[in-house]
Amino acid sequence: MRISMVSEHASPLAALGGVDAGGQNVHVAELSLALARRGHDVTVYTRRDDPALPVRVRTDARLEVVHIDAGPARHVPKDMLLPFMGELADGIVEDWGQEPADIVHGHFWMSGLAALDAARQSRSGGRDVQVLQTFHALGTVKRRHQGVEDTSPSERLMLEAMVGRSADRVVATCSDEVFELKAMGVPANRVSIAPCGVDLELFGPHGPVEERERPHRIVSVGRLVPRKGMDLVIRALRELADTGHDDVELLIVGGGGNTSVLEDDPEAQRLVALATELGVADRVVLRGQVSRAEMPALLRSADAVVCAPWYEPFGIVPLEAMGCGVPVVAAAVGGLVDTVVDGKTGLHVPPQDPAAIAAAVAEVLADPAWARELGDNGYRRVRARYSWSRIAADTEKAYQLALGAAVPAAPATARRSAARRLESTGGRAL
Ligand code: UDP
Repeated sequence: MRISMVSEHASPLAALGGVDAGGQNVHVAELSLALARRGHDVTVYTRRDDPALPVRVRTDARLEVVHIDAGPARHVPKDMLLPFMGELADGIVEDWGQEPADIVHGHFWMSGLAALDAARQSRSGGRDVQVLQTFHALGTVKRRHQGVEDTSPSERLMLEAMVGRSADRVVATCSDEVFELKAMGVPANRVSIAPCGVDLELFGPHGPVEERERPHRIVSVGRLVPRKGMDLVIRALRELADTGHDDVELLIVGGGGNTSVLEDDPEAQRLVALATELGVADRVVLRGQVSRAEMPALLRSADAVVCAPWYEPFGIVPLEAMGCGVPVVAAAVGGLVDTVVDGKTGLHVPPQDPAAIAAAVAEVLADPAWARELGDNGYRRVRARYSWSRIAADTEKAYQLALGAAVPAAPATARRSAARRLESTGGRAL
C-alpha cells in the first residue's frame, strides 16, 4: 500500500520530552517504520517548524518524512495550529501529484482535518483515498479533566467529533477510548483497536543500569505538564518516608530541554517548591529531558516505575518499563488499564491518590522476589503483545478493512467471497 501519515505537530524526527513532543512522535515514527518494513511505501507529512529543515528526509528504504510549509517555520504551540490545516492539506495533495496514497492516516484531531481535506480534494479528481484516524488524545477527555485550563481551540470538540464520524475508520489505542468514541457518535463498526507498541531492541532487561544515590529508587517519566501527576509522586515520597521508607529516591525524567531550561520552567519550579515544602527535596532529582538512548538505563535503575497521570490516552512509558523488566505502579486510567495487569506486571492505584501510590511502592519494595516476578511478567507481556511489528500488523488489518469496505458493489457471489477474505484478515472490528 501507499500510506500517508499526517502528524501536524508531532514529527517523527523531533527530540522527545518537551511540552508538545511525547508518545505521538514515538507512535508515528515506530508505526511508520514497522509498516515500511512490512513492504508498504510510507510518507509522513508534518509541519515545517524550522526553516533549516530539508523538504524530504528519507529514513528507510520505504519511509520518508516530508516537511510541509503550513504556518510560520518555527515552533508554534499545537493548540494554535488549527488555522494552518488547510495549507497542510494542500501541501499533501501537491506532493501526491498524480499518484495519491491508498491510505491517509491522520494522527491527532487536527491532522484528521488535513487528511479528510486532502482525501476530499483527491476524490474530486477521481482518485479514491481511504481516511484512517488515530486521535492519540480526545478533547472531550481533556476538557473533563482540565476544565478552564484546557487551551485547546473552542472548535475542538465539534471538529473532533466530525473527524471521527467522517473518517472511513478510526483506530483507537485502548478499550477506554472506544467508549469515548461511541459517546462522540462514531459508529462502533468503524472502530478498530491497535495499541501503541514499544521498541523491544532498545527497551530490554539487559544493559547498562544507572547508579542510584540511595538504596531504593522510583522513576517517573513524562513531559512536565500538570496532568502527568509528578506532584502526586512527590507527595507519595513523603508518605513513604512517614511509613519508614526514608531510603527511597525519586527520579523525574522529562521537561523542557536541559537543566538550564528546567530552571526557567514553571512546572519544574512548582515541583521543586513542593518537594522542599514536604521536606523531601534532598531525594528528588529532576533530570530534565533525556534522549531515547539514555532512557533504558534510567528505567532499569528503578525498583518501580510510577505512572500517576490524571488521565492517559495510552501511555508508552509503562510499556518501556515492562520491556526493561521493571514493575509498574500505574493509575488505573485510560490505556494503563489495558497495558498494566494489576498484581501480575505491577499494581494499579486509583487516580490522584498519593497514599495509594506509596502503599503500592512499599508493597513492591517489601518483597524483592515478587518484584522480580512482576518485572519478568511485564517483560513477557510486552514481547508477546506490544512489539511494533505486531502493532503494524493490527493497523494493516484496519487499512484492509477500510479498503475492503470501499470496494464498489459487486455481484452477490463476489461479495460473499470478499466478506470471507475480510474475515480472514482477522481485523478486530468492534
Ligand atoms: N521521553 C523521552 N525523553 C524524555 C521524556 C520522555 O524520550 O525526557 C519519551 C518516553 O520514553 C516515551 C515518550 O517520550 O517514549 C512519552 O510517551 P507517553 O505516551 O508515555 O506520554 P505522552 O508524552 O505522549 O503524553
